[in-house]
Amino acid sequence: MPHELPKAYEPGAIETRWAEYWKDQNLFHASTPPEGHARNVFSLLLPPPNVTGRLHMGHMLNQTEMDIIIRWHRMLGDLTLWLPGTDHAGIATQMMVERQLRSEGKSRLELGRDEFILRVWCWRKQYGGAILDQMKRLGASVDWEREYFTMDENLSRAVREVFVRLYEQGLIYRGKYIVNWCPDCGTAISDLEVKHEEVPGKLYEIRYPVVGSKEFITVATTRPETMLGDTAVAVNAKDDRYTHLHGKKVFLPLMNREIPIILDELANPEFGTGAVKVTPAHDPNDFQAGLRHNLPQIDVMDERAHMNANAGPYAGLDRFEARKRVLADLEAQGFLVGSKDYTISLGKCDRSGTVVEPRLSEQWFVKIEPLAKRAIEVVEKGYIRFTPDNYKTIYLNWMYNIHDWCISRQLWWGHRIPAWRCGECKEIIVARTAPAKCPKCPSSQLEQDTDVLDTWFSSALLPFTALGWPEPTRDLDVFYPTSLLITGFDILFFWVARMIMMGCWFMIPPEKPMRPDQKPDSPEEALRNSVPFRDVYIHALVRDAERQKMSKTKGNVLDPIEVIEQYGTDATRFTLAAMAAPGTDIAFNPSRTEGYRNFANKIWNAARFMFMNIDRIGAGQAPSPPKPGLKGVDGFTATTLEDRWILSRFNGVADYVNEALEEFRFHEAANRIYDFFWGEFCDWYIELIKPRLLLEDGGDKSTAQVAASNLVALFEASLRLLHPVMPFITEEIWHAIYDGNPPFKSIALAAFPLADPKQLDLQAETHMAILQDLIVSVRNLRAELKVEPKVKTPIQVYTYEPEIRTLIESNRNALERLASVESITFMDSSLAKLPGARHTARFDVHLVYEQKIDVEAECARLKKELEKYEKNITNAERQLGNESFLAKAPANVVEGLRKQKTENESLRDKSRKKWDELGCK
Ligand SMILES: [Zn+2]
Ligand SMILES: [Zn+2]
Repeated sequence: MPHELPKAYEPGAIETRWAEYWKDQNLFHASTPPEGHARNVFSLLLPPPNVTGRLHMGHMLNQTEMDIIIRWHRMLGDLTLWLPGTDHAGIATQMMVERQLRSEGKSRLELGRDEFILRVWCWRKQYGGAILDQMKRLGASVDWEREYFTMDENLSRAVREVFVRLYEQGLIYRGKYIVNWCPDCGTAISDLEVKHEEVPGKLYEIRYPVVGSKEFITVATTRPETMLGDTAVAVNAKDDRYTHLHGKKVFLPLMNREIPIILDELANPEFGTGAVKVTPAHDPNDFQAGLRHNLPQIDVMDERAHMNANAGPYAGLDRFEARKRVLADLEAQGFLVGSKDYTISLGKCDRSGTVVEPRLSEQWFVKIEPLAKRAIEVVEKGYIRFTPDNYKTIYLNWMYNIHDWCISRQLWWGHRIPAWRCGECKEIIVARTAPAKCPKCPSSQLEQDTDVLDTWFSSALLPFTALGWPEPTRDLDVFYPTSLLITGFDILFFWVARMIMMGCWFMIPPEKPMRPDQKPDSPEEALRNSVPFRDVYIHALVRDAERQKMSKTKGNVLDPIEVIEQYGTDATRFTLAAMAAPGTDIAFNPSRTEGYRNFANKIWNAARFMFMNIDRIGAGQAPSPPKPGLKGVDGFTATTLEDRWILSRFNGVADYVNEALEEFRFHEAANRIYDFFWGEFCDWYIELIKPRLLLEDGGDKSTAQVAASNLVALFEASLRLLHPVMPFITEEIWHAIYDGNPPFKSIALAAFPLADPKQLDLQAETHMAILQDLIVSVRNLRAELKVEPKVKTPIQVYTYEPEIRTLIESNRNALERLASVESITFMDSSLAKLPGARHTARFDVHLVYEQKIDVEAECARLKKELEKYEKNITNAERQLGNESFLAKAPANVVEGLRKQKTENESLRDKSRKKWDELGCK
C-alpha cells in the first residue's frame, strides 16, 4: 500500500485532528500505579489560569516549555503527570460578573449573596472553559481526566482543613490592622497587589497650637484630610527643641480636640520640624506608634473612602474633596503654614487603578514567620533549585523580610472563611463544618464570617490538595513532590513562595497524611520530601519584535491564536523554544515563525520524497518499534561514508539535546535539532544518497533497498527527536511511516532517542567535514565567477595528505553531483599563490574556468552602476550637510542616510576596481 501524505503541508487541518485524537484517546492520562511500581515519575502542575483568562503569549511560552519537558520525560519512559486546572480568581471573576449585571441594570447587592454566587457559577459554566479549550487546541499533553477547579468540593474541603489547622496552631489570627484598602474594589488587597508610582504632589505644613501657651508645633503631611483622625503629635525624646513641651497637649484645629504630645522614635529630629502628626487609623507606621502609646484609633473614612461621622463637618465628602475643604479651612483659620512641591510614592490598586487608602480594619492573618523559616531552609539546603539561579537570592531576600499575610477579602466569590460569630456572647468559632450552637453559651444564633479567602490561599495548597490531601492517597505518595514548576517571575511571591511555605508545612508529619503501614522518613528526609516541587524554572517575558513590552495601550499585543492560525502551532512552538534562553526575554517576531513554518515544510517535502522512493523501490520496511531505553538508531546499516557520518551526527545531536533539556536550555535543543534535520539530514544526507536510491550509481536494487531502509530508520528516529518541540507534524509523518498501522497509538509514546557511543564515528565526521568544505568551496568559486548552473567545470586539487586524496577520489561522484564538477586533477604543489584559488589547512582547490566576458557590455553596465552610486552619495551628502534638516529629522532617519552614504561609497569603490581591471574607458 502506498504511503499517504498530502502534497501540501497544511498545519491547521493536521493539528486540529491530532489534538482531538490525543484527547479522545486519553493518551496523557497518568493512572495511579500500584505499590511497588518501579518507573521513574515526572509530575508537573500547570499554573492554573484564571477562569476569566484568555491565552496570551506568556501562557503560550509557559505551556510550550512545559509540554516539551513532559513529552520528553514521557518518551524517556517516565510515568508522567501534567495536572491541569483553573483558578476561581476571586476579584477578577467577581468584577467580570458584576460588569455583566451592570449591563442588565442590576447590582450584586440587589441580587444578594446566594443568588450572586449562583450567577458566578453560571458564568463559569458558560465562559470559564475558554482558556482550557485553547490549550486543547495547542495539544498540551495534560491529563484531562484529572482536571480540577479550585472551588471544587474536595479542594474547598482541603482549604477549610488547612485554615482550621493553622488556626488551631495559633498561626491564623484575627486582628485590627492597617491594610491596603481599595475603595473601588471595596476590599483589602495585599502588598503585592499595590503598584507604586512616583508622582508630583505637595507637602503641606500645618501648625497646631500648644495648649496653655502661645507656641505652635508645625507638622507636615501629604494627606491633610487624615488630620481629622489625629490622636497625638510625636517628637523625639532627644530633640532639644521640644524638651519644654514634654507632657503637654496640642489643640487639633478644625476638630476642637486636645491631643497629647508623645515621645516616640517615629519622629526624626533630622527631618522637617522634627514633629509628626500621629493618625493610627490611617497610616501603618502611626498605627504601630499608636499601639506603643495606647492611643485611640479614630477612623475618619468609610469603605468607599468617603469621610464618616468621625470627620465631623466633613462627613459625607469624598476624600479628595475633603482634602480641598480641610486645606481651605486651615488656611482661613491661619493654621496652614504653607506647602511645597514633593514627590509622592502613590500606591494604586493593581486591578482598578484607584489610589489605595491605608485603612484600619478587622482582617484575618497568617502568622508567617514559622512557615517562612522552613521555606528558607529548604531552598538554602538546595532541596528546591531555581533556574536561572539568581531567583534564589530574590526569593530568599523576600522571605527574610516577609510580613504577616492578610488572607481575608471582602468579596463574595471565593472560599468563605470557616469562622462563625455568636450573636449572644460574640465568641468566634472556627470549624470545619457549620457549628449548630455556640460552645461558650447555648445560643444557636451563629453567623458565618462574610469574607472570603485570598485567591492565592487556595492556590498555594494545590501541589498537595490537587493530589488528594488530607487523605493519605496513593497519588500523594507517587506524584508528590512534583518534579518541576515552570512559571513567570510575576507570581514568584504571590504563588511560588507561598506554595513552598504551605507545602513544607502540610506535607511533613503530623500534617502529612500517612497510612498505618507507612514508615516515616527521617526528619531530614521528611523535610527534603515536603517541598512542593524539586525544581523551579522561571521563564522569560515575551516582548514584541522591537523588544517592547506587549501592552494593550501600545497596541502591540500578539494573540498567539492568530499566529497559530497563520503559521501553525508547531512553528509557533518552535519559535518560542528556539528563543527561550534561560533568563533572556524573547523578542517575538512572526517572521521567524514563518521561517520555522518553512522548516516544517522542508521536513514534509523530505518525507514525501522518501515515501515516493520507498514505494517505487518496494523497500524501506517501517523500522521496528523503538523501545524505551534503546540507544542509537535501530535497523540502520552504515555502508558508506555518508551513512557512517549521519549516524554519528544523529547520536551526537541526541546526546546534546538530552543534556540541553536537562538544564532547560530549550533554545539550544531546538536550534541543534533544526540544524541537524534541515542542514545535515535534508540538505546533505538525502542529496548524498540520491544516486543509490535512484539507481543512478550503477548499483543494483539491493543497495537501493539498504539506502531506503536507512533513510526510513533515520527519518523515524529524527521525528522522535523533534516530537517534543513539534508534536503535530511529527505525529502525522510518523503514522504515515507505519502506513496507518503504528506500533503505538502515538509517537508520543515511543522512546526518545538516546546516544549510542558505539554509533559515534569521529573519523567519518572529520572526513565528511572535509568533503563538505571542498564542495562548498567549489560552489563559492563558481558563484564568484558567475558560472552558469548547467556548466560543469574541472577542478584542480592539491593535498599533501594521501588519506584526503583517497577520500576525495572515492567521493568523486558526490563532488560531480553536488558541486557540478566535471573532472578532478590532483596537483603536486600548493595552489595557494594561484589567483582565485581557495587555500585551506587540508587542501587547495582551483576552478579551471575561462571567463568569457563581453568587455564592452560589462563596461557599459559598470558605467551605469557607477552613476547610480555617485548620485546616491551626492544626495545623502546634500541632506547631511543641511543644518535645518538635521535639526528636525529623527535620529534613525539621519542614521539611515549615513549608512546609505557609506554603503554606496563601498559599492562604488568595488565597481571602480573592476572598471580599472577590465580597462574600461
Ligand atoms: Zn481595586
Ligand atoms: Zn455564644
